[in-house]
Amino acid sequence: MDLRVRALETVLTQKGYIDPAALDVLIDTYQTRIGPRNGARVVARAWSDPAFADWLAQDATAAIASLGFTGRQGEHMVAVFNDQEQHHMVVCTLCSCYPWPVLGLPPTWYKSAPYRSRAVRDPRGVLAEFGVQLPAATAIRVWDSTAELRYLVIPRRPEGTEGWSEDALADLVTRDSMIGTGLARQPGSAA
Ligand code: FE
Repeated sequence: MDLRVRALETVLTQKGYIDPAALDVLIDTYQTRIGPRNGARVVARAWSDPAFADWLAQDATAAIASLGFTGRQGEHMVAVFNDQEQHHMVVCTLCSCYPWPVLGLPPTWYKSAPYRSRAVRDPRGVLAEFGVQLPAATAIRVWDSTAELRYLVIPRRPEGTEGWSEDALADLVTRDSMIGTGLARQPGSAA
């Protein structure tokens, strides 16, 4: 795959269709500036500020934009909140739609055919493979992303974090917990 990408890049550059410097800027942007730490800020704010959480539930696109996270593949956001009764999990069964401004680029497994098919057929089995065991009474709802709508899972706030700063809370929020294939880290567990 690496060789194919490099060959394609070389041909497109030679034909003058792309500027390699522009590609470098794009790649750097998504590798270092835009990524799951953005989403973690959104979750930490929602945990800390009930008014923001309400706004996020009503109009996720605007609430997320208020923190400065906007852009391609995040034009229409929906936030879904995990609780004891219901756990949310996100997939794109068709391809790899993903909320770039808050989570960066999707992990390889998110784009894989097995995840895309099994997430809807056997979500509990998929979660078990990610090391997540939910109580049998917790329902699992799977959201299928589209070219229009992108979902951000707001994981449950870990217990024992009362009074924590947003920075400290954000450190507990993993990428997978915002896709729904993981849970937020417990206080004291290794980063
Ligand atoms: Fe897609």
